[in-house]
Amino acid sequence: MDATFHKMLQGYRGFREKYVRCEEGVDSSLMHRLAVDGQSPEVMVVACSDARVDPALILQCEPGDLFVVRNVANLIPPNEPDASHHGTSAALEFGVCNLNVKHLIILGHSQCGGMDALLNRSELKQNDFITNWMSLIDNETDPVEDVEILAKRALLSSYENCLTFPWIRERVRENKLKIDLWFFEIKTGEISAYSFKHNQFQSLVDDND
Ligand SMILES: [Zn+2]
Repeated sequence: MDATFHKMLQGYRGFREKYVRCEEGVDSSLMHRLAVDGQSPEVMVVACSDARVDPALILQCEPGDLFVVRNVANLIPPNEPDASHHGTSAALEFGVCNLNVKHLIILGHSQCGGMDALLNRSELKQNDFITNWMSLIDNETDPVEDVEILAKRALLSSYENCLTFPWIRERVRENKLKIDLWFFEIKTGEISAYSFKHNQFQSLVDDND
């Protein structure tokens, strides 16, 4: 059996032991409670599909804590109320309007393949979906060559796009929703958060905390 698949099955057993187990015939497990009460996460995360950037794992969250949508390069498109199939916008709508999350975190990361694809379009072969998706980022008006700089700039672009959704704009204005832009450095595991006050990314937590 494939090693990763074997690890997955072991993980699945561990998950059930930790979150689904009955205590002396009484089912008070977290999953049981979540099934009865439903989900009510306070935080939504938009993250990249990259296998190294799993928000629940990085933030050590439990089932029910995070409402997550992952896509190539953690991009948020602008509000386009047409008949196309907008998966990320649908997830945003559900998280913000139905679940009423209080925080929306857009989680970018280093070494993003999506950003790399945008910078090296000539290397793409038959990747029409990726090319079109990555065209959400404008790297022509003031082009950069650096993947990390582009990834951070894309976070700001996604933030601007967020505000084109009236139900997000309204909640942000009323302080019912806070949007955070985070950048995860794969090599060091560090997260920096964008400070709108200082116009720069700063360490999310002091390591001495
Ligand atoms: Zn990525």
